[in-house]
Amino acid sequence: MLLSESLSNEPLSVSDLKQFVYCPKIPYFMHVLGFRERITECMKEGTESEDRIVRLEERRRKLAKKLNVDVKLFDVNLYSEKLGLVGTIDCVVVRGMEVSPVEFKSSPKPKKVSENHLIQLVAYALLLESCMKKVSKKGYIVYEKSDDLLEFSITEKMKRYTMKKIEEVKRIIAEEVFPETRQPASKCTSCGYRKVCQPYIPKSLYSFAGVYKVPSKRGTSERLGE
Ligand code: SF4
Repeated sequence: MLLSESLSNEPLSVSDLKQFVYCPKIPYFMHVLGFRERITECMKEGTESEDRIVRLEERRRKLAKKLNVDVKLFDVNLYSEKLGLVGTIDCVVVRGMEVSPVEFKSSPKPKKVSENHLIQLVAYALLLESCMKKVSKKGYIVYEKSDDLLEFSITEKMKRYTMKKIEEVKRIIAEEVFPETRQPASKCTSCGYRKVCQPYIPKSLYSFAGVYKVPSKRGTSERLGE
């Protein structure tokens, strides 16, 4: 039996896993304390409804051209009881006994693909293998703004690593363990949980408490109580 099965019956979403890799505190804020993510301006940009539908159609048309395969399924909802994992995959391509997840990003291609985007892809590959009983050795990310389609190999080692991370998130939620991690200020600046994680404390209150340091800059790793 997987550790997660004994810790919690609630399936974890691939989105929770992605957030965890971005910062392990996020699933704690969401699932232990029940906070909802604040929608930042750049998040709004990617979800405005009418724009989104037009973009969705456009990207499907382009993808159909680029990926020379017969079967493409869009917005595929999957749940694996065995993995305790749920997720909605933007697109699934099927080639014989092989299935591959495709994830669309509204951003341009980055210099380096972030770990949370990669782990999301691997988690989708695990879901596909579990639910469709096929093998998944490749995954794709489409960066819409720069019109790039990147192909990634999905190895057994990556799958094992991802399984380990799934168990870690489940443990945080089930055992209500606050992860004591620090993140670079660049991550915190665009984080929807920043106001909860690093609340603004007026300088007067810091001096009043006497024992606290005054943070040099919001978003740095120097925090209240240290
Ligand atoms: S503000 Fe920074 S440390 Fe806090 S949850 Fe967000 S990324 Fe993590």
